[in-house]
Amino acid sequence: MADSAQYLDIVFDVPIRDNPVFTYRMDPKGEAALGKRVMAPFGRREMTGYIIGQRDEAPAALSAGSIKAVRRVVDGEPVFDSGDVELAKWMAGYYLCGLGEALAAMIPSGRRVGGYSSFDDDEDIAQAALSLSEEQEKALAAITAPAEKPPPFYLYGITGSGKTEVFLRAAESAIREGKSVIYLVPEISLTHQTAEAIGKRFGPVAATIHSGMSPSKRLTEWVRIRAGEVHIVVGPRSAVFAPVKNLGLIIIDEEHDGSYKSGNTPRYHARQVAMRRVATSGARLVMGSATPSAEAWKLMKDGGIKRLDLTRRLSGGSPPEIIPVSLEHTEGCLTGELKDEIRKTAQLGRQSILFLNRRGFAYFYHCKQCGFELSCKHCSVSLTYHKSKGRAVCHYCGYSVVPPKACPECGSLEAGFAGFGTEMIEEEVARTFPELRLRRADADTTGRKGSLAETLDIFKAGGMDILLGTQMVAKGLNFPGVRLVGVVLADTGLHMPDFRAAERTFSLIVQVAGRAGRYFPDGKVIVQTLRPHDPAITRACALDVEGFFTAELAQREMLGFPPYTRLIRFTLRSKEAERADGAIARLASIATPLIPRDADVLGPAECPIGIMSGNHRRQLILRGKTMGTLHTAARAILDRYDKGRDAKAYLEVDVDPVSLL
Ligand code: ADP
Ligand code: ZN
Ligand code: ZN
Repeated sequence: MADSAQYLDIVFDVPIRDNPVFTYRMDPKGEAALGKRVMAPFGRREMTGYIIGQRDEAPAALSAGSIKAVRRVVDGEPVFDSGDVELAKWMAGYYLCGLGEALAAMIPSGRRVGGYSSFDDDEDIAQAALSLSEEQEKALAAITAPAEKPPPFYLYGITGSGKTEVFLRAAESAIREGKSVIYLVPEISLTHQTAEAIGKRFGPVAATIHSGMSPSKRLTEWVRIRAGEVHIVVGPRSAVFAPVKNLGLIIIDEEHDGSYKSGNTPRYHARQVAMRRVATSGARLVMGSATPSAEAWKLMKDGGIKRLDLTRRLSGGSPPEIIPVSLEHTEGCLTGELKDEIRKTAQLGRQSILFLNRRGFAYFYHCKQCGFELSCKHCSVSLTYHKSKGRAVCHYCGYSVVPPKACPECGSLEAGFAGFGTEMIEEEVARTFPELRLRRADADTTGRKGSLAETLDIFKAGGMDILLGTQMVAKGLNFPGVRLVGVVLADTGLHMPDFRAAERTFSLIVQVAGRAGRYFPDGKVIVQTLRPHDPAITRACALDVEGFFTAELAQREMLGFPPYTRLIRFTLRSKEAERADGAIARLASIATPLIPRDADVLGPAECPIGIMSGNHRRQLILRGKTMGTLHTAARAILDRYDKGRDAKAYLEVDVDPVSLL
């Protein structure tokens, strides 16, 4: 160990926001080093710590004798470096979390990596055979043009307009210059196929990371990436942290997708982290979608993001005819229009996809006599009836009961389930079209690994006539046999108390419609709705993205919501309602005098889902013109709040929240 340092600076994955760094004694063998993980005594436990620095002398405040030693060094080789620590510091500052929490989110949690085997270099690499269209050429030229400080780029175009091809060419160009590429895709679209396609194109210098991999497998890939053997990493949200050497390009496919925002602390958004990484590394950023987020749309309008249009469908086919149909006076869940088209499609020997964003059989239990609603014991949401299980189930926490025959409140028999889910559609379709072969694909039927892939394979091979399901069936929309897509109820999300409800509904319909009609000129999309005149529905059916965002952004500006303002949401939860109330009141009283002039406070209020898994939830939202002043205020608020907080009320901070439920 010779002249190595005596002490280690270590952070832990704990929710301490002022980022304390703890000092430990170096291990006897001197294996510890920046970027390695250790096991170390922390409080009464032993925890994984992250070494972010070394020092020769103990901090003045500590007597050398009181400093504990680390128990064990986990990693043989460092799993992060000082650049990663800088990024983690930025994350902790931006997302108002602990430095250790940020680092823990960045690095796979697998155990120690020993060695790993690199691939052979003699695999065949497919050459790109296509010659680019004029629009693609123009887009690629813009993305790759030499520039001092290139803006972020946005490939805006429908499915099949050749975005992927441009992404891949841009990646090839970066790799040719000796740089590395991070290619982000939504979790759900990261299939074996994507990985294989990238592997074919880039050979052994490509790596894929996804949630289906074990943590240790992920860590092994991580180490290979850090070693500089990988020049292109494909993966979901967390791949934005991939430790590639000489980052040259980050690609974000389907930029609007909700899975880019983390649902746990730190609640980071991959787009935000990507912007930070390109800003500090000089790399380029290219995003793409047919339905950009409102944030991206506004930035394109204002010139902060350079929009590159791909207007033509290169894969043949044309957008299908999209017809909105009112469900209002329909008995059951299928309108005459939809039934006619299903029948016609079958007669033509083609296939239909029915799409509904709601699993289960029926939506909520309601008593016509007294108004009683059957809701979860632990969450303030209605239970969904699952006929196959014979139970009413909570989709948030899993609680379930046998649904009552009569109203538990007043005994009336005029009580029962209303609204519908995929299970009910399945029953009605089977009853209406007994001769057609039908399969349902949702979280309830595809629990078994590979069963979704199996269903899709059968569908693709023509082994069934109708595929019914939630978002999961979207992949089937690219199959040549499909003629009809039926959106069973387009407005499932429209009544949500969330300012993004219209945007989500719009985006979903356009995505569904955009994916259909890829292979067929006579495609049809029937959009059933209870709100046939809602602009989110009518504009989606007209594929009028421009018109939708013009109206939507005007509305957001008028109401003072993002992207015209920024938000920081504080959520307090506790097993006891009084504690949650007390804590949120205290937070609000601390916040009120600290609110900057260009900001305001929404709440305190009960969250739209007031109880979840037995926790009472309260919220307070800071809203301001710029993140700078909001951050300053939030830090001051948290500082004061954390001193003397109620340990039985848990505070969660969400910067730029995506969901407000
Ligand atoms: P997107 O990512 O916008 O959905 P893709 O890049 O996947 O579009 O392209 C859609 C289809 O069009 C693919 O089958 C692809 O092979 C084909 N394609 C892409 N670019 C061209 C081109 N320049 N000429 C012919 N076909 C192309
Ligand atoms: Zn009743
Ligand atoms: Zn529940």
